Amino acid sequence: MKAMNFLAFAGGVGGAKLAEGLVRAVGPEQVAIIVNTGDDFTLYGLHISPDIDTVMYTLAGIANPETGWGIAGDALENYGMFERYGAAPWFRLGDRDLATHLLRTEMMNEGATLSEVTRKLARRLKVASLILPMSDDPVHTLVDTDKGALPFQEYFVKHRWQPVVRGLMYEGSAEAEPSPSVLRRIETADTIVICPSNPYLSIDPILSLHGIHDALLNASAPIIAVTPIIAGEAVKGPAAKLMKELGVEPSAVEVARHYADFINGFVLDVRDAELRQKIESMGMGVLVTDTLMHNSDERARLACEIVTFADQLRPEKLGGCLLDKTEAPGV
Ligand code: GDP
Repeated sequence: MKAMNFLAFAGGVGGAKLAEGLVRAVGPEQVAIIVNTGDDFTLYGLHISPDIDTVMYTLAGIANPETGWGIAGDALENYGMFERYGAAPWFRLGDRDLATHLLRTEMMNEGATLSEVTRKLARRLKVASLILPMSDDPVHTLVDTDKGALPFQEYFVKHRWQPVVRGLMYEGSAEAEPSPSVLRRIETADTIVICPSNPYLSIDPILSLHGIHDALLNASAPIIAVTPIIAGEAVKGPAAKLMKELGVEPSAVEVARHYADFINGFVLDVRDAELRQKIESMGMGVLVTDTLMHNSDERARLACEIVTFADQLRPEKLGGCLLDKTEAPGV
């Protein structure tokens, strides 16, 4: 059986969890992750890439599981100093985390692309999977709300996603190119997984880039999306609220419909098992399982099931899940 070539589409928390599971299920070198950069922004002149950092810290084993952002055990000494200056920022950066943003910004100021910088930082953190920013060009998610058009971080962090959303814009995406190798990776992947990330805030910015949607339509690999909506609710964050505000029923069925033109498989949570037929009738295979990932073993177990599901969706069986061959995933 030949080596596998997994490609994941991810935002932050939901994406990073499944990416970690895939790494355990098939091995780090077999996994590449295309990460949303629509949330990127500049603070104190620093280039901050929240989703890239969440994926990178998670795969490096240093992510903070409590907050969903930043580094475990990090201090916030710098915040106290900002407060002394009367400039308490609404976006907090941990002290160790700050090193990432300082180095990234310096390298980019010297001419490196975000892809190059990400590769360097990830290598130093001993992350063997390829983390690919969706684009090296600026794309900014703008959230049109009852409080006006807000840059993503203002909507998400400053206003804690409470404003009512009327629409979304991915500013710059018409001119932005996918980062080098993204389209080739889609073409040559054995399996493509759309992680249980927010479809509108994390995955759509990636899909909005020139050539990505067409590449997915033409991909030979099975494409499997995992639901971020369970029993009508998001596990974390604004996905369900946002769907309601956009006039879409917050349901796994609508997530499947959102991706229906290019996916062949959908992973539905066992709590929504009764929706199976509705989703199958859209012409895709459905895996019903527990999609809640509370810990590393549950991430690996879900990823293993996705590996097996992918094998059912293609003519040729690939390498299978490493955990089936070595250890039980501990569930
Ligand atoms: P963000 O950029 O940090 O908001 O992260 P993502 O867009 O990658 O992930 C947010 C989405 O992940 C939310 O819509 C959650 O419902 C979903 N999510 C988080 N944890 C889990 C989980 O354990 N299982 C499933 N199925 N979805 C999850």
